[in-house]
Amino acid sequence: GERRVFDLRVAPLQRPEGAREALGVFFDITRLERLERVRQEFLSNVSHELRTPLTSILAFVETLEEGAIDDPLNNRRFLGVIRKNAERMRNLIDDILELSAIESGNVRVEISTVNLRSIVQEVFAALARQAALRDIELRNEVSEQAMVRADARRLEQMLTNLVDNAIKFNRDGGRVTVRHERCADHDRIMVEDTGEGIAPEHLSRIFERFYRVDRARSREQGGTGLGLAIVKHLARAHGGEASASSIPGQGSTFIIELPIGSEARNAERDDSRA
Ligand code: ADP
Repeated sequence: GERRVFDLRVAPLQRPEGAREALGVFFDITRLERLERVRQEFLSNVSHELRTPLTSILAFVETLEEGAIDDPLNNRRFLGVIRKNAERMRNLIDDILELSAIESGNVRVEISTVNLRSIVQEVFAALARQAALRDIELRNEVSEQAMVRADARRLEQMLTNLVDNAIKFNRDGGRVTVRHERCADHDRIMVEDTGEGIAPEHLSRIFERFYRVDRARSREQGGTGLGLAIVKHLARAHGGEASASSIPGQGSTFIIELPIGSEARNAERDDSRA
């Protein structure tokens, strides 16, 4: 039930008998309208997301200028806050550029046959410290033989985003498990956590840009709100799909499906979902 938008164009027809006739054609511009709306929303979200850390940076700079710079107890702390907010802005801009490159089809996925277990191992190594800080176990249950068709760097990027989330939204002492299943026409890669899970009304929306269940918490943890949108677009650029399921109170499972033996293709332009 979406409202459809039409544009009517009318052209007079020349008839020898002198009859007056015209041809009218309805153009369905629903998609164009939707594109425009999505673009507007995105711009306003981006502006807001950038403005928040910038406001904080300016406030702390002013406080320093007004004398706090000579306060040995606070000046370092204030600089730390400024740095944290500047880093958040940089991460956000990096993610926006990344997403826009994938969406405009400027990202070519170079598909080859890659060893999944060793990619998961690399992702775990990069995030090991972060996991250890909260006593979270990282478990690689992918078999040594598991080969998938993917762009190795892009697959690593997707898994990094998912494992990073699985750590961030886990409980202390929890576990993150990566598994692999070979299905009839695709490989299924699963990232499972023991976190608080995601309620059904949020589950259907978390792959949208800037959608977060808890905005303050996501920001606090340095999240940009774009990680899952990037995962989804990268999966589609592989001809695959990304999805999630969850049991609230027990944990969530994020799934990447990659076709077996598909050719590389550019990211499709699909603004209708994420
Ligand atoms: P970010 O993590 O930067 O907020 P993402 O696009 O990666 O942005 O995720 C969007 C939102 O989805 C998160 O803010 C969080 O609410 C929810 N989410 C993602 N992964 C998980 C997870 N493993 N467990 C619970 N919630 C999650």
